[in-house]
This record gives sequence, structure tokens and C-alpha cells, in this order.
Amino acid sequence: AVAATGAFAYLARAIVKKRRVDRVLKEFHDTLIVPTPKLKELCGEMLNEVQAGLRGDKSSLLMLPSMVDILPDGNEKGDVYAVDIGGTNFRVLHLRLSDERGQVAHTDLRDFTIPEEMYSCHINELFDLLAVRTVEFIRDVRRDSPSLEKPLVGFCFSFPVEQTGLASGNLIKLTKKFENAGAVGADPVLQLAEALERKGMPAHVSVLLNDAVGTFAGGRYMDEDIMLGIILGTGTNACYLEKRSNIRKGRLPDLSHSEGMLINTEWAGFVSSNLPLLEEDRTLDWHSVNVGEAVYEKMVSGLYMGEVARHILITLIERGRLLGGKVPDAMREPWSLETRFMAGMHTDNTLLLSEVSAAMYCLYGVGPWEMTYFERRQVQEVCRLVCLRSARLIAMGIAALLKQMGRDGSEGPAPRTAIVMDGGVATHYPAHKDMDPESRLL
Ligand code: BGC
Ligand code: MG
Repeated sequence: AVAATGAFAYLARAIVKKRRVDRVLKEFHDTLIVPTPKLKELCGEMLNEVQAGLRGDKSSLLMLPSMVDILPDGNEKGDVYAVDIGGTNFRVLHLRLSDERGQVAHTDLRDFTIPEEMYSCHINELFDLLAVRTVEFIRDVRRDSPSLEKPLVGFCFSFPVEQTGLASGNLIKLTKKFENAGAVGADPVLQLAEALERKGMPAHVSVLLNDAVGTFAGGRYMDEDIMLGIILGTGTNACYLEKRSNIRKGRLPDLSHSEGMLINTEWAGFVSSNLPLLEEDRTLDWHSVNVGEAVYEKMVSGLYMGEVARHILITLIERGRLLGGKVPDAMREPWSLETRFMAGMHTDNTLLLSEVSAAMYCLYGVGPWEMTYFERRQVQEVCRLVCLRSARLIAMGIAALLKQMGRDGSEGPAPRTAIVMDGGVATHYPAHKDMDPESRLL
């Protein structure tokens, strides 16, 4: 009887606590689900910004011409090297495109995590590191068949660049965690080429691509109906094929032979007073390297989702008295809740949510015995809601670009339209793309 009374009292207390937290959680819920009418309004605004940017008018989307006006059709062949930097990792690759249409015969790839100090060093130091790894890699690939020819290198650089040609341009700004001096305004192709030369391997850097543009082109190599390339990783971006007559901005090279050009939208910068921003988003922004910028990106992408969730958890603890109202010291540490942990908690489907409590223990020292089942569920709900907001906002952006291309089905059935997506969230957080499948935006 004593045990039964004890258990009953425990349950009663847990329920009272749960209600208090639920009240605060409800406020977040109402904003983070982004009701469909609001999403449609945002979609219209995004479309206006797309069009303003194309005209060269003031817009939060840079709408940068990529200079790519010929797309792969799968018949390309040969050996190429590629260098890819701009998120959490950098990569060097060697590809052999086969005679068979749309097939890559052979890929060598080396992946490196960018060391923390490289986000704020002088840009030359970052390029030197990139060059060292690239030179080592190319030497290894060429070990069996030495060559004195300058290697052909494609450069994928995941930042906004005002392109002056297919293999030249000036960096407009750095984003995500990068704040390297000497980068903005310079030509990243020259910087890479000079670094490779310094490290003893002059190369021919033949193309400069944003990652969204590269994703689009890579998609087209395999599927001719690709109309949209999306990046959802550390940051976010979208690239699509725009008609030549719609691009009135800046100087375009003679394109008389081509129908259109890939546009790097830089939608990361989208901003509107209708965006479902929380106080917690403002706090996050304040601690970022680009305060006031990349508003959309900070609500949707991998660098930020976990951080948003962390700020919401702190509010739930402080205002709703989750976890007894005491914020663990470690939880005050900025960026401590990486999106991959958030994803793990979100997708925990064990009976007692033991992965949620394991993560809370590893990251913040909150023992499993210190969290009721309801509290675990509430933590999980925070993760789910942050992911839901991201997914709905990304869907909104995709809808806006489909409208811009006249492929939203409003003028009768659209031809088959394929979208290619890449980035850490796209590849490692499968639940993200499964969010809210019933919702209809178009
Ligand atoms: C950059 C884009 C890039 C995207 C994804 C954004 O922060 O502005 O240029 O494509 O991240 O990497
Ligand atoms: Mg990348």
C-alpha cells in the first residue's frame, strides 16, 4: 500500500509538472508549425524577392548568375579533380566519367573536418591547408601513372560569389561559421591556384561553382528532368534554371546560343516580417558571425537547428520548470546541441525514449533518473517542432521556385520535374524530408 501511494504521488507530481511545461510548449508549437495560410503568404513574398533580385532591384535574395549555361547530359567523359569547401568538411575528389551515359566509372574521395581555428584564420592559411591536402591527394592518385600535366581542377566553393566568368569571381560575403580576413572581395579561384602553386603543384582551376549549382549540374548528369538543386546542410541554398530573357541583372556574356542559365538564388538571406521568428532565434542570431543576416538559413539549416532547440529547451526549463527549473551548466554552452544529436532525439522510437535520455546525459549530465517519461517526450517534441518548421519553410521555398519556373501545376499538369538535394541534413536526417507529408502548398 505504501509503495502504491508513493507511485501514485510520483505520477500525480509528474502530471502537474507536465501540464506546466505543456503550457509553455504550446506557445512554441503554435509558431513553429507555421500554419499553411502563413506559409502561402511567405511563398508569395519569396517569389517577389526572386523576381526583384533577377531585375537587379533591392532583394534579400542575391540571385547570382552562375555563368553556367550549358548543362551536362550524361555524355561527358574523362578525368577531373574537384575541391569542395564551405560547410563543415572539405573534400578532394577524383572522378572518372565513363563512356556509359550518366555513369561515374570511378570516384576517389577524401573528406576532412575543418579544424575549428580555420574558421577565423587569414584566408590564405585556409587555402594553404586545402592546397596541401589537394596536392597529397593528386600525387597519390597519380602514383601509378605519373603525369607532368597540370591537373584540371573544378572548385566548388559554398559562398555567394559575384561571378565574372565561369572560372572567376569575387566573394560577396562569408557565411555559416566562417569569418576569415582577406576573403571578401577577392577571387577564390586565384587564391586556390596560388596556394596550389605555393605547395608545389600548379594546376588549372577550370571552373568555380557554388555547391547548389554543382548539385544541380551533378543531378543533370544523371537525370535530364532536374529543374532544381537544393542544399540543406550546414547552410542552405537553391539553384534553378532561369530563362535568359528573365535575367536582366548585370552583365551576362554572349549567350545567344543558350536558352538560359543556372541562377544561384542565395535564398539563405530571405527575410520577411512574416517569418515565424522566436525570441530564441534572435538570441541565436546575436551569437552568430553574421548578425542580422541569413535569417532564413538560421531557421532551417544544420548549423542552426540544434542551437534553436537548445535555446527553446532553456526557456522551457526556466519558464516551464522542466527538469526542476535548473538549467545544466553545460547547456549554457553555445552550439553544444549539434543538429545530429537533435536528430537522434527526434527520431528516438524506443519505448522509454532512452536515446533522448542518453543524449541528455552525455551532453548535459542529466541522468535518466532525473527525467520523467513526460519530460523526455517534451524534449523530443522540441526537436520535432524545430525540424518541422525547417521542413515547412524549405517546402515553401521550393514551391516559390516551382512557381517562378511555371512548374507548380497551376497552368495544367507540369512536365516531370525532378529536384536534387544534397547536404548533411538532406543525407543524414531522413526524418526531415518525411515531415508533414499530407500538407499541400501548391
Ligand atoms: C551560402 C551559400 C551556400 C549555402 C550552402 C550559404 O550559407 O551563402 O552560398 O550555397 O550556404 O552551403
Ligand atoms: Mg558542402
